[in-house]
Amino acid sequence: MLETSIAGSLPRPAWLAEPETLKGAWKLSGAALEDGKRRAAAEWLRHQEEAGIDIVTNGEVFRQHFVHGFLEGLTGIDWQKMTRMGIRNNRYELDVPTVTGPLSRPMPVHLEEVQFSRGATRAKFKFTLPGPMTICDTIADGHYGSRPEMALAFADILNAEAKELEAAGVDIIQFDEPAFNVFLHEVKDWGIEALHRASAGLKCTTAVHICYGYGIQANLDWKKSLGGEWRQYEEIFPALNASRIDQVSLECAGSKVPLSLLRLLPDKQLMVGAIEVTGDRVESAEEVAATLGAAAKHVELERMLPCTNCGMAPIAYDAALGKLKALGAGAALARRKLGG
Ligand code: ZN
Repeated sequence: MLETSIAGSLPRPAWLAEPETLKGAWKLSGAALEDGKRRAAAEWLRHQEEAGIDIVTNGEVFRQHFVHGFLEGLTGIDWQKMTRMGIRNNRYELDVPTVTGPLSRPMPVHLEEVQFSRGATRAKFKFTLPGPMTICDTIADGHYGSRPEMALAFADILNAEAKELEAAGVDIIQFDEPAFNVFLHEVKDWGIEALHRASAGLKCTTAVHICYGYGIQANLDWKKSLGGEWRQYEEIFPALNASRIDQVSLECAGSKVPLSLLRLLPDKQLMVGAIEVTGDRVESAEEVAATLGAAAKHVELERMLPCTNCGMAPIAYDAALGKLKALGAGAALARRKLGG
């Protein structure tokens, strides 16, 4: 009960990449870079096991950015044609590559890192892929002319990738869809359909991570504009509850998401964010247990997976390590306090 997990990413160590930024440049190259990625992943897998995290990830240390890391393996994308684009309905700007022709995946993108990571831990292993809607909000379209059409093209490619990762021993495939609480109508129009295409035929557990974003300044400013209660999820949770995805995330630590919204997902397992990702302050185990206790007023313990609010890639390494330990200890405390 109360199996712990993390949203996905962890900081790349300072010897591997520029730390505490969203897209920090690699500090190594060639074989040294590949070795470094594996070493960083193995260290995070061990840290998670020691912290009592039940469902581990490789910290996404093999990729520079959670979306572009996957896109780098595809053809049909021009990386020389970078376009300055407003992301998440113009919340912040990012230089993104451009789709210039039909998309295809000549070979698996993440298979090698999954094989390595799977072999490095005996814990349940989760792997994260960017969701189709979020990909389309993080790349410029110079070919398809329609976001839903481009999303379905990405979904088919994600599906082929996900099936190979499942065959390599991944227990949970998670699609990251931070765009889901920005484009609320599109989620219902085609976002969930695209997610179903991406996860079609998978026998492993499937998850979708939705969130109010990393703790970067643009997101902090945006959150200030959302008012006293963040009710965006209210629009999309009923449709997600009717979807075929097994697990849905939401942030419960230090967020203004009303916890009663958990009740809109009665048929799902819930990744309950009990760790903030907005700063370097490490929560106490008591705080984590209190957050889980508050969520438990709205959802049965059997359906709760204590988790981080979002990825921890942009925060300090030691802070992330402390937060892993707080999550493990807090969940253990909650198991004792809440019974079971
Ligand atoms: Zn997130």
